[in-house]
Amino acid sequence: MRYAEVIVDLSAGAVDRLFTYSVPDGMAVDAGWQVEVPFGPRKLEGFVVSMKDECGLPPERVKPVLRAVRDYPVVLPELLDLAVWMHERYLCNLVDALRLMIPAQMRGDRVRARTVRVARLKVSRAEAEAFLQANRRAKAQAEIVRRLIEAEELPASALPASALRALAGKNLVEIAGEEVRRTPLALKDGARSSDPELTPGQRRAVSEIADALERGGGRFLLHGVTGSGKTEVYIRAIRRALKLGRTAIVLVPEIALTPQMVSWLHARFGADAAVLHSRLSAGERYDEWRRIRFGEARVVIGARSAVFAPVENLGVIVVDEEHETSYQSDRRPRYDAREIARRRAAAHGGVLILGSATPSISTYMRAMPGVRSENRLELIELRERVHGRPLPEVEVVDMRGEFERGNHSIFSGRLARALEDCLSEGRQAVLFINRRGYSTFVSCRACGYVVKCGACDVSMTFHQVENALRCHYCGRETPPPKTCPKCGSRYIKYFGAGTQKVAEEVMKRFAGARVVRVDVDTTREKDAHEKLLERFRSGEANVLVGTQMIAKGLDFPNVTLAGVVAADMSLNLPDYRSRERTFQLITQVAGRAGRADHPGRVVVQTYEPDHYVIQLAARQDYRAFYLRESAYRRKALYPPFTAIARIVFSAKAAAQAQAAAEAAEAALGEFLDREGMRPDVVQMRAVEAPIKLLRGLARWQVFLKMYFKGDLDGVSREMQSLADRAPEGVQAEFEINPSNLF
Ligand code: ADP
Ligand code: ZN
Ligand code: ZN
Repeated sequence: MRYAEVIVDLSAGAVDRLFTYSVPDGMAVDAGWQVEVPFGPRKLEGFVVSMKDECGLPPERVKPVLRAVRDYPVVLPELLDLAVWMHERYLCNLVDALRLMIPAQMRGDRVRARTVRVARLKVSRAEAEAFLQANRRAKAQAEIVRRLIEAEELPASALPASALRALAGKNLVEIAGEEVRRTPLALKDGARSSDPELTPGQRRAVSEIADALERGGGRFLLHGVTGSGKTEVYIRAIRRALKLGRTAIVLVPEIALTPQMVSWLHARFGADAAVLHSRLSAGERYDEWRRIRFGEARVVIGARSAVFAPVENLGVIVVDEEHETSYQSDRRPRYDAREIARRRAAAHGGVLILGSATPSISTYMRAMPGVRSENRLELIELRERVHGRPLPEVEVVDMRGEFERGNHSIFSGRLARALEDCLSEGRQAVLFINRRGYSTFVSCRACGYVVKCGACDVSMTFHQVENALRCHYCGRETPPPKTCPKCGSRYIKYFGAGTQKVAEEVMKRFAGARVVRVDVDTTREKDAHEKLLERFRSGEANVLVGTQMIAKGLDFPNVTLAGVVAADMSLNLPDYRSRERTFQLITQVAGRAGRADHPGRVVVQTYEPDHYVIQLAARQDYRAFYLRESAYRRKALYPPFTAIARIVFSAKAAAQAQAAAEAAEAALGEFLDREGMRPDVVQMRAVEAPIKLLRGLARWQVFLKMYFKGDLDGVSREMQSLADRAPEGVQAEFEINPSNLF
């Protein structure tokens, strides 16, 4: 008898363990298979984690596996190991990790291959022609046969049904179900293109990576200025891997970014390229996933979760724009795709390439001398743009001066003139603003009251298109007030500019401006961002206004002007990473201009023109920024010199959340004392969370900062278990190195 150790597909601590089932003779089930099993009175799906030949339980207590849900293992052995590791590392239920390995709709059997019925001849051509000779009067049938002789195969729905049935009855024609693949939009069109000649820098990079691939693996940081041609390095490295019979995964931060990367990879790898991301329809996702699983597509491109793509024999795994926070999952399991990528590369003896023009401080540090070899990254630099194109010139405009001169508009004189010039020359411009909506907040001139969300402690954003105030945290909407809700004054004003306002102003002030706006609001619908960017690419629009979504990766040859409308918005956020993020944003936005033959110009508007972040970003001097920022973090004991962890407690009443946080603080303190770990801790306290009300719940947190030499895993386990034991009526979330601290 064979036995299967099964993890059932229910995410709950109580069933986070293996259950043993017998496998009936003749049922093909093995580790990695998705099965259906009896569970109490119910039937549940589950995953087979391992097999064994013996089972200590009395036979009558062991129930049999009911069926295999699919007729192949859905989780490959390497990914099964990975899930088990994630279970330990990220303190999640094993099934939560396993669920990441297959498209969601494959669970509960909600997706199937799509088939169309096709008709084809069942007899030889000669026999078919003989039939035509003999049956001249059966016109409809003869017509079908004639067409099938010509086309070999036709969709059944396109043929007259009764004649077709008659032919099938005579055994002349067969009607079969044929699978049709649902092809994601981005992979549909596009001409194939050939390899350009590499620049010397690219050639060195590719050869270093290819050497590592042949030697059995390696880890690289590809630090290349914007427009240095990092993508081409990825493509050539991948080509080498394919030649060696291996596969590749390319991760990109956000789906808004993928259209170009996808079309490039598609143009170069054709049907070998597959995409995986959450914006695909269920069917598309399932079909792409299976093409990868069965080796029909060997180059996978996608956002964070594509790091779990079911490839075998992985040769190259690329994390493009590695500094992006979207690689860190904000849901359980809170995995870091870069860490997963690194493990998968190691498991296959493959190569990991982290690429960026503005690497995160912690990544760059690992490429510096003196790092332990298990953490070390080899640094490869591309210091120049392709074909010696210059980096764009960046002008910093002091908005205080503009205001003093009486210019109260959102455009400085310089940006306005630059935009005029750009448009009159028939070029295109990209304008970046860090906030969607129209105005960033609404406030009373008389009493200072700021309109906040009723359910969250954040100011509401005015959306003109919808004529509503909207909370960007919970989505709640209210009509804009005509008078101050607090003092009744009619001097209620709208402050700050969002994407809607910038787009509107551009259309009002600049003749000949044709604007597309790209932000969360305009890209909700499936394929919307591809279509918007296509309008810009085709030249139908000439000004692209957007949020972070447009800051990275886009490569439009006709763009000669990039404007940062308000650089300070991100600089003054209460987060130790706000300087790093602002530097990245300005550098990346600047990088959109002048990527082809026409030089680019960049205008950065700010109220703090002398701030070193603005200055260094304007010079696009990453190294100087890194040195300054890492020195600051070392001194102020911020990551990566320390680790930050927290438990956020949310409850209806603030007192409840506070009590839970204070109790957890006391328990954690006892734990630290017991383990002798106090000296490893920089800071530990229960405090109100920076956003003290979110979606109607009050929030308190236990915040912990700790040196790396400490037993971080031990403390994490303790904090997770404190979160799991939160009192009734209190929600608790444990996070380590959270991507935001609100
Ligand atoms: P990065 O990601 O480093 O900002 P990209 O990979 O987007 O840069 O490349 C910038 C532009 O240069 C793209 O249009 C790309 O097609 C082009 N390019 C890259 N390498 C070469 C090359 N060797 N020869 C010609 N054009 C190249
Ligand atoms: Zn007021
Ligand atoms: Zn809200």
